Amino acid sequence: MSDINSTCPKSLPDYFACNVFNEEIMRAKLPKNIYKSLLQTKKLGLPLDEDVAEVIASAMKEWAVEKGATHYTHWFQPMTGITAEKHDSFITPAADGRIIMDFSGKELIKGEPDASSFPSGGLRATFEARGYTAWDPTSPAFVKDGSLYIPTVFCSYNGEILDKKTPLLRSMDALSKQAVRVLQLFGNTSATRVTTVVGAEQEYFLIDKKLYDKRKDLIFTGRTLFGAKAPKGQELEDHYFGNIKERVSLYMKNLDEELWKLGIFAKTKHNEAAPAQHELAPIFTTSNVASDQNQLTMELMKKIALKHDLVCLLHEKPFAGVNGSGKHNNWSLSSNDKQFLLDPGVNPKDNIQFLTFLLAVIKAVDEYADLFRLSVASAGNDHRLGANEAPPTVMSVFLGDEVTAILNAMEKGGMIKVTEDRQFIFCVDAIPNFPKDTTDRNRTSPIAFTGNKFEFRGLGSADSIACINMMINTTVAHVLKEFADTLENSGDFDADLNRILVDTYKKHKRVIFNGNGYDSSWLAEAEKRGLNNRVSTVDAVVRYTDEKNIKVFEEFNVLSRTEITSRTEILLENYSKIINIEALTMVDMARKQIIPTGLEFSKLLSESLSVKIAVGIDTGTERKLAERASALTGSILEAADTIDVRLLEARDIKGNESAARFYRYEVFPAMTVLRNFSDELETICPEKLWQFPTYGDLLFRI
Ligand code: ADP
Ligand code: MG
Repeated sequence: MSDINSTCPKSLPDYFACNVFNEEIMRAKLPKNIYKSLLQTKKLGLPLDEDVAEVIASAMKEWAVEKGATHYTHWFQPMTGITAEKHDSFITPAADGRIIMDFSGKELIKGEPDASSFPSGGLRATFEARGYTAWDPTSPAFVKDGSLYIPTVFCSYNGEILDKKTPLLRSMDALSKQAVRVLQLFGNTSATRVTTVVGAEQEYFLIDKKLYDKRKDLIFTGRTLFGAKAPKGQELEDHYFGNIKERVSLYMKNLDEELWKLGIFAKTKHNEAAPAQHELAPIFTTSNVASDQNQLTMELMKKIALKHDLVCLLHEKPFAGVNGSGKHNNWSLSSNDKQFLLDPGVNPKDNIQFLTFLLAVIKAVDEYADLFRLSVASAGNDHRLGANEAPPTVMSVFLGDEVTAILNAMEKGGMIKVTEDRQFIFCVDAIPNFPKDTTDRNRTSPIAFTGNKFEFRGLGSADSIACINMMINTTVAHVLKEFADTLENSGDFDADLNRILVDTYKKHKRVIFNGNGYDSSWLAEAEKRGLNNRVSTVDAVVRYTDEKNIKVFEEFNVLSRTEITSRTEILLENYSKIINIEALTMVDMARKQIIPTGLEFSKLLSESLSVKIAVGIDTGTERKLAERASALTGSILEAADTIDVRLLEARDIKGNESAARFYRYEVFPAMTVLRNFSDELETICPEKLWQFPTYGDLLFRI
């Protein structure tokens, strides 16, 4: 088990971020002018001079070598959704056969990994295979496992974006610019930058490593493809917030310590609804850093589990019949003059400002619902969304009764009048005082306003949060730009602002839904309201290339048409690949483990049968069981054969969309048929014959 490493002090406040090259370290290690120019780069996105980079690289290397690093790596986030790294040592030969540890400014700023093995969605075919990584100074470098990690963006030879980080950074800039314009309209002269901040709650399962090793489905696909329900599930609700078992508690402690060393504000940990399920939530930070840190968190969750003979499952639905795992993306806006723009506040003037930003998000969600939907679409998440354990596939916003009442009053009264005694007064009936904290407990909404932030709850546990944040930032930037364009040229600011707010609410209130999203009547209601329901990943992803969506990304130079097309191809292809691997794994397990078990059971029964016949005892039980076992075994064989045929057909399908549809609507149902037969066999088969651990073992044996 890893201890707080020797280069870190023992008490938490002292060892927190001890492996991070953060501002404090930089201030201490860098000459003043260099530090200042780096801060400028970070704050204003200015390019970094080469000689400045040289000095920073040297200080970084010195610090990293002190921490025991021998290598450095450009760390990036290709479209695989996980991180990639290639390590080079600092070693440079010196004249006397010895070595020096060297790291140049050029090596800090730019890397050239071979891009050909990362998904490019067709971009690669037209351009050179070479890719570039470029240092992202807005996310701090850190030391881990003997290497200096440098967060970087990743693009192709011709500058096409190949990663998840670049568009996120661009969207943050776009939003900042537009939000500052709006703030200025409210008379704010001090804010020059608006930052999106995010706290990502992360759910996960822990299971015993020895049991995991016996299940090919978990090894190859991250989820169980077979498995009859255990007698107990989550129905007693005894796991959520229940006391944490010692083995899990040791794991969580170890995980916290490692995260803290990397400067990650791991704050809350608790058991989740399903047995063996847990959650970790960090304190929020800038969305770019939150995204990097969430990647690190997921990586460390898995790595540290192994040290405890556990396996951490980040799949969205590892087990049928109990809740899967999601991730909540808590998003809000904060300005560099220390305002939370989504906080209602106490000052009425700020409240109108608050309503403006609130309505901007509502409008963005309604107009670009498809983008929000597709950013949480994945093969794994298809099992959760709309299955009454996660929000529906229809995008809606929960505001709570109080905020909704305020907006209704505003709509009814038209003009908002603001009195000096810090109250909202509308031209209509009394409305409740502004809620300080509408701490919402409605867990069924995909997007919930929770007092001073929006909580995006559709994400799957394995998702990178970069995509959803890029969507929020870009679409909200678009709406704020519309607002600012009108208001900057307005002759009567108050009247125009009121008109904009009322019109926006009127037009987009259809996306607000405060009721129970798990209730089946909601889908019918949503349809009446004209809200889209993109049920599967395939249906969701193909909307990426709708003209309207391309336009909003191009407007802010977040993604180009080609990049969006390539991303769509990657997502569709990835979906097909996942279902293909799952189907192949099922067929393999069926033929090599499940059918042999069925035959073995039948053999046992027929042996017993012949003994009984010989001595003239009633054989009804054996006959009945043998009939069922052999019928099920036969059906399993047949179902596996059907999948094989379907997979062969899939190979000949041209085009990623058609292929993905085929996997979704032809292969996937065939998999369900196979599973059902096998799960039924499992329930009648003797335990000692079953060849892999059961749900009972996996979920309750920690
Ligand atoms: P819950 O389970 O009730 O949703 P948690 O405490 O588990 O709440 O998680 C709340 C998350 O929201 C944390 O990651 C926290 O840092 C984040 N958060 C709180 N306030 C804000 C804010 N203003 N902006 C962004 N994220 C926030
Ligand atoms: Mg939450």
